[in-house]
Amino acid sequence: MGMERYGVRGLSLEIEGAFGASTQNLGPDGLTWRRLYNRAVAALDHSAMLAVALAEARKGLAEGGIPIGAAIFDASGKLVSFGHNRRVQNNDPSMHGETDAFRNAGRQRSYRNLTMVTTLAPCWYCSGLVRQFGFGSLVVGESRNFQGGMEWLRSLGVRVVDLDSSECASLLGEYIRRNPEVWNEDIGEE
Ligand SMILES: [Zn+2]
Repeated sequence: MGMERYGVRGLSLEIEGAFGASTQNLGPDGLTWRRLYNRAVAALDHSAMLAVALAEARKGLAEGGIPIGAAIFDASGKLVSFGHNRRVQNNDPSMHGETDAFRNAGRQRSYRNLTMVTTLAPCWYCSGLVRQFGFGSLVVGESRNFQGGMEWLRSLGVRVVDLDSSECASLLGEYIRRNPEVWNEDIGEE
């Protein structure tokens, strides 16, 4: 799937190639190419990371499942693993997008420098997973359909970024509208 393309390093080389690694000031606020480039990498990379999780969500929908996807990246922006919700496909209520990606990552020495990326704010179960294994960062596609344990994780010091993606929100929102009973089962509402 062209994983290298999502790497921060590849992207930084591309941007440096375009602008040069100049530290020349751009304005009175002291904005330098370096800082501008750092901001661009941070912003672009989150969207690129989310694109992987979103592709997983769409894969799940095509399989007849709940469209929630996840991906795990290391500190350099390299893709470690990905997965999607398989409650319907596998008849397995424990297989959420995050847990699927987590299991696909295999054993990791440490999770502190890893980023969990999900198309939807993680439920309590997956927030517990992020907390238990000590993921340093969490990137959330949207929290409009469900808030889960996002604020709880934030309060514990996990770096949480909510991209508030309309694409993620409408993909799942449409599914919930058509399949309210499966959705309520997924979030543990009776
Ligand atoms: Zn979950």
